[in-house]
Amino acid sequence: MGLFTRRKTVFVDSDILVIGGGMSGCGATYESRYWGRDLKIVCVEKANIERSGAVAQGLYAINCYMGMQWDENQPEDHVRYARNDLMGLVREDLGYDIARHVDATVHKFEEWGLPIMRDPETGRYQREGKWQIMIHGESYKPIMAEAARKAATEIYNRIMVTHLLMDKTRPNRVAGAVGFNVRDGNFYVFQAKAVIVAAGGASHIFKPRSVGEGMGRTWYAPWSSASAYALPIQVGAKMTQMENRIVLTRFKDGYGPVGAYFLHLKTYTENAYGEDYEAYWRDSIEQMVGDYVNRHPVPTCLRNHALLEEVKAGRGPIRMVTKEAFKDPHKETVGWENFLGMTIGQAVVWASQNIDPKEINPELTTSEPYVMGSHATCSGAWASGPEDYAPSEYQWGYNRMMTVDGLFGAGDTIGGTAHKFSSGSFTEGRIAAKAAVKYVTDLGNDRPQIDETEYQGLKTVIYQPMENYEIGRNEIVAGTVSPSYILPLHGLQRLEKIMDEYVGGIGAHYTTNEPLLTRGLELLTMLKEDLAHLGAEDLHQLQRAWELQHRVLASESVAQHTLFRQETRWPGYYYRADHPKLDDTDWHCFTLSRYDSESGEWEMEKAPVYHIVD
Ligand SMILES: Cc1cc2nc3c(=O)[nH]c(=O)nc-3n(C[C@H](O)[C@H](O)[C@H](O)COP(=O)(O)OP(=O)(O)OC[C@H]3O[C@@H](n4cnc5c(N)ncnc54)[C@H](O)[C@@H]3O)c2cc1C
Repeated sequence: MGLFTRRKTVFVDSDILVIGGGMSGCGATYESRYWGRDLKIVCVEKANIERSGAVAQGLYAINCYMGMQWDENQPEDHVRYARNDLMGLVREDLGYDIARHVDATVHKFEEWGLPIMRDPETGRYQREGKWQIMIHGESYKPIMAEAARKAATEIYNRIMVTHLLMDKTRPNRVAGAVGFNVRDGNFYVFQAKAVIVAAGGASHIFKPRSVGEGMGRTWYAPWSSASAYALPIQVGAKMTQMENRIVLTRFKDGYGPVGAYFLHLKTYTENAYGEDYEAYWRDSIEQMVGDYVNRHPVPTCLRNHALLEEVKAGRGPIRMVTKEAFKDPHKETVGWENFLGMTIGQAVVWASQNIDPKEINPELTTSEPYVMGSHATCSGAWASGPEDYAPSEYQWGYNRMMTVDGLFGAGDTIGGTAHKFSSGSFTEGRIAAKAAVKYVTDLGNDRPQIDETEYQGLKTVIYQPMENYEIGRNEIVAGTVSPSYILPLHGLQRLEKIMDEYVGGIGAHYTTNEPLLTRGLELLTMLKEDLAHLGAEDLHQLQRAWELQHRVLASESVAQHTLFRQETRWPGYYYRADHPKLDDTDWHCFTLSRYDSESGEWEMEKAPVYHIVD
């Protein structure tokens, strides 16, 4: 740190610290106040909660709503659905817990002003599918932010959290977090009795399809930088199912969503020759995964698999047949509105490529893989379950507490619970907050202590990329290449290349094996060594540097888990070519990891899957 720096250290005291003000963070902040009337509730966000996270641009549907008031579905039905989609492996206790509370959350959204469409005939919410209800959702996120703002003691926007702080009096107990303000550069030390990590999932760990001019155009928000995983991993929290990356079938080049098209507009897909191809692959899929292919609905990964195989067989591109549906003016409006409410970019791409879906059936393709815990995938932290429902092996105190005391999580952060989506993530934030308040109350005067040596050391580490740049900048060759440091973008591209080629990205047809993973891990270790030499020109680049650090650690976790699970559980998401079949005898289990930041070693283990719902 330069001798004459004007960078201040700001201390913030809190009872509950919520990291990330997206869907689950807003839910956690709101609910913390409900149960903890006198507590100091602080939410810290690297962007601005008004428009941050995956819902920043708005959504057109809430994808998780039971409709219990009309007896449409019961929580058990949702557990069965998620279990089937994830090829048998979900934390049923956590999923059930969300499903039983999610309707109440959605009713609050409506009360707060979110326009939910209604079926004019029945008066019920307009269904897009069995679990989805349609909304006018451009302002979804600002509405959630308002609820959080009113509940919080303080919201700190524009602060990138880089590390958690541990209690100096008791090992394995969290005591707060540190980060820096991306606008004024001040260093922030947050002291907390409980911390809820709600920092979203991870894009840009695998090389995206759009590079160069299109870089940044990804399905998952480019700012989702894996902090939700890296922060707990750094302090030794156990992670689960990190191999379970997700690949999405989406409209080509704009990543526009297809759900409303399939479910509401009743469009369907065909190969380049106008043939239905899914049935063609059924038998070969059955040989790989057994009966899972006969389930209804067919698991998401298996539908991807059929598309991928058809393209590999030379009968691509795959197209969505929109011409028929778009003849109906109502459906045409719905089709366009679906994009305008959440993925405007897809409408722009179609306009720029002369695609009018009334005249041309648009192409579909599969995305690069992403890591997240709330969509049709369930990577994340291993958390304690609800007292009244979780098997004893899944309980170690407080609901949604990780294996580190006082450290909670929600949304994309928590593993094992797929299909929570926006409403389920907000709900899980509420669940985690209620438990965190109880934890804080139970602590009484036993307050965690932050360690000055620890946070002062981190202060030096955090700003080091700016020092590196300052010292090495005169050695720059070719504009951006330096012998003394690497820029965050260079590091990111190196990471994406390693993950793509060795861990099963698009360039490798989502395929990997033990030798590839072993080599990939070696290359990741070398990349990690070089991260000590990151150079950051300004605060914006400093944020990029720390996002990269988080992405690399999460990627290492993905590679370790992928190596550990010796089967191909989710064809269409990724393939272990050396173990090409699903293996329920040995791998009907969760994979767990624990990282030791001192030694850099990963400990892997299996945990049982309990089927609580019949
Ligand atoms: C493309 C896409 C489409 C989707 N479509 C739908 C849909 O149609 N319907 C539906 O119901 N759900 C949908 N979802 C799912 C829904 O958006 C997610 O389930 C939900 O947003 C997850 O909530 P979260 O709080 O975990 O993450 P997010 O809402 O993404 O929030 C994470 C927050 O953490 C902040 N953050 C990250 N790192 C840090 C850090 N280091 N320091 C401080 N702050 C940090 C981020 O800025 C962000 O505000 C979609 C998701 C995606 C990606």
